[in-house]
Amino acid sequence: MAASRPGHFTLRVFRGYLPAMSLLSPRLLSALLMVSVAFAGANAFAEPANMENAPPNFPYRDGDAVFVDFERADYHLVYDFAAKTVTVESEITFNAPVGGYPIFDLVPDPRDVRLDDRAADVAQVADPDDASYLRIVGTKVAPGAHRLTMAHSLATNVEFRPNGVASAFWMTDLTDRHYLEQYLPSNLQFNQYPKTMRIEITGAQGMPHLVRANGTIRNPSENVFEVKFPAYYSNASVFFHLTTVDAIPTTKFNYPSVDGRALPVEVYVVGNATLMAQYVANTKAALADLEKDYGPFPHPKVIVYGNGPGGMEYAGATVSSPYALGHELFHSYNARGVMPADGNSGWMDEAMSSWHDRHYALRTTPGAPTKMAGHSAYFRITDGDAYGKGTDFLAWIANRMDAEGKDFKGFLREYYRANMYHTDTTETLRRAMEIYSGLDLAKDFEVYVYGTLAAETTPKNSKWARASLATCGSFSEVEKDERAMENPFHPRLTAESLRKLL
Ligand SMILES: [Zn+2]
Repeated sequence: MAASRPGHFTLRVFRGYLPAMSLLSPRLLSALLMVSVAFAGANAFAEPANMENAPPNFPYRDGDAVFVDFERADYHLVYDFAAKTVTVESEITFNAPVGGYPIFDLVPDPRDVRLDDRAADVAQVADPDDASYLRIVGTKVAPGAHRLTMAHSLATNVEFRPNGVASAFWMTDLTDRHYLEQYLPSNLQFNQYPKTMRIEITGAQGMPHLVRANGTIRNPSENVFEVKFPAYYSNASVFFHLTTVDAIPTTKFNYPSVDGRALPVEVYVVGNATLMAQYVANTKAALADLEKDYGPFPHPKVIVYGNGPGGMEYAGATVSSPYALGHELFHSYNARGVMPADGNSGWMDEAMSSWHDRHYALRTTPGAPTKMAGHSAYFRITDGDAYGKGTDFLAWIANRMDAEGKDFKGFLREYYRANMYHTDTTETLRRAMEIYSGLDLAKDFEVYVYGTLAAETTPKNSKWARASLATCGSFSEVEKDERAMENPFHPRLTAESLRKLL
């Protein structure tokens, strides 16, 4: 999504209401004030600058490698059934806030890269903290608008079968570079921008396919699909699953949302009718539970893919086991509705969803200290302490709020309303919690979240934290903390379990 530029405000309808304003960051509040002055009576505020949560630019060649603001990305995927190959052509328009060598990411090697219609080279480079890898275009750009095009071959989670193709963009937040950049050229998590995909399966006449995706889907002819994704999506939002039409049984229904919508729900399940019935019942129960506590489901539709262990969240979609559904669909509010801007912010949604799993139990003491939000600015995965110690921390804050007569679930409802469709950081949450509760949480965050201050005592973790296993994103658990570059051959079990989901 476009960043605000100097002297140029993009307006958007303010979805929250007055109390929700207290949950906004001081920066947003001042922006809101400025817009309110400029547009008296208008119920709108300045769109947050996507670039303010970008990691720092860093020296590269004779200048700087610079993070840029993607304006939009259009992808054309051709599945060649005879050749058993997938070729992707991509066009990205972006705005460079400052001059330098533009940064993006794509795990497969790009080819035919052109920047503003001139051939360009691309390097894969470790960031200055050696936390991850990035792609850097070897052509220096001036500040302003630019166009980047490239092609690449896609092979990850693609399977050519005798009767058609299966392909999906499975993601996990527990392994580095495992969001959209595994499959398509993308920006990092701080950036929101509209995306389209045109998908063609060639040479497969008479073998009709089906695309399930959390965007608007057109199917103009057999084996041709056009998907348009919302502008608020980041690189972690997209759900995409291509199969033959009848590969997996589906149940579709409309769920009566609390806001009056007939919310379209699609549940598709690998398993028998009993399992399907269980998924449908659990989906309805989870939606009722979440809408009661946190308001209308924040996405235009719901997709539940019932398969595999654990689960993973997408915007309005999930791959989930039956028992993880409540946890995963809660992520449509707290991870893929309000969206973490980077790896140091990823702990928040896992702590929130895991607190839901504990039936919102309160704690009189914090868990053990962590540095969940204390990693490098280039760190891109969720710290595994989020599930146990992070949840203990939130349950302790909730208990302190409770003592002041303030309800933490009520806080979360307002926080989601105020920040929905925007990225957030640990500081966004801390400030909002302080404003809501009146508590000074600076020191507690330093000890239990940032790991920058030693604890005076070390409280015990809860029994949940001691037994905690990641309930979602766990397909790739064995790969955790391993580096894709240093380990080009992923552990066999993990790759197999992902392919089994196709
Ligand atoms: Zn989760």
